[in-house]
Amino acid sequence: MSFGRIRSMCLHPVCIGRVAGIALLLFALLCILGSPAAVYARGGLRGVRIVVDPGHGGWDPGAVGPTGLTEKEVNLRVGIALRNCLVEYGGATVLMTRWDDSDVSLEDRVQMANWWGADRFVSVHHNASYDRSLNGTQTYAYTYGSWASFDMRNKVQDRLVWGQGLPDKGAMTANYYVLKYTNMPAILTEASFITNPYQEARLRDRGYTWREGYYIYQGIADHFGVAP
Ligand SMILES: [Zn+2]
Repeated sequence: MSFGRIRSMCLHPVCIGRVAGIALLLFALLCILGSPAAVYARGGLRGVRIVVDPGHGGWDPGAVGPTGLTEKEVNLRVGIALRNCLVEYGGATVLMTRWDDSDVSLEDRVQMANWWGADRFVSVHHNASYDRSLNGTQTYAYTYGSWASFDMRNKVQDRLVWGQGLPDKGAMTANYYVLKYTNMPAILTEASFITNPYQEARLRDRGYTWREGYYIYQGIADHFGVAP
């Protein structure tokens, strides 16, 4: 009996109005409660410790472009851009393996990260080939790496390919020293080929290298499931 009564009440225009009113109120409440979340969307990496490792430096220029642009210089520019995005947008705590054109051994880079107890390790490099027409994006994780390292690698690769629009040469694995001996999930980016004349010209542009750092940051944010 009561069942039928409820049903008849709910069909009454007044009841429908009440239900709509309650729904509207709930919606407004959700909007009000939702807004602080939107305000604090950035800073999702607070408490996360990340090592940013610009490859090469000092006596070791890394790869060299057709007109002499060195990989070590480009890696440092991208690395600092990545660090600034991680700190300023993500609220992460970042340790740089180098801030200038200094010579840091692979052992020291790994030791820094392991000693500090980093949560993630990101090494920034640029690719080279004898075939100067070659260009494209690759991101590496250790061959026997963790699920987390593969996930971060895939998401950074996706953002780099989407952002830079260069050929997707794949999310790869390798036994690079900094990937193998770091105790935390680690990746190494090869966002483009510095040996390609067109790409070398792009890499001279500070806006271009800032954006590359930002795309890597976006991939790391995706990996942690937070808004960039
Ligand atoms: Zn390199």
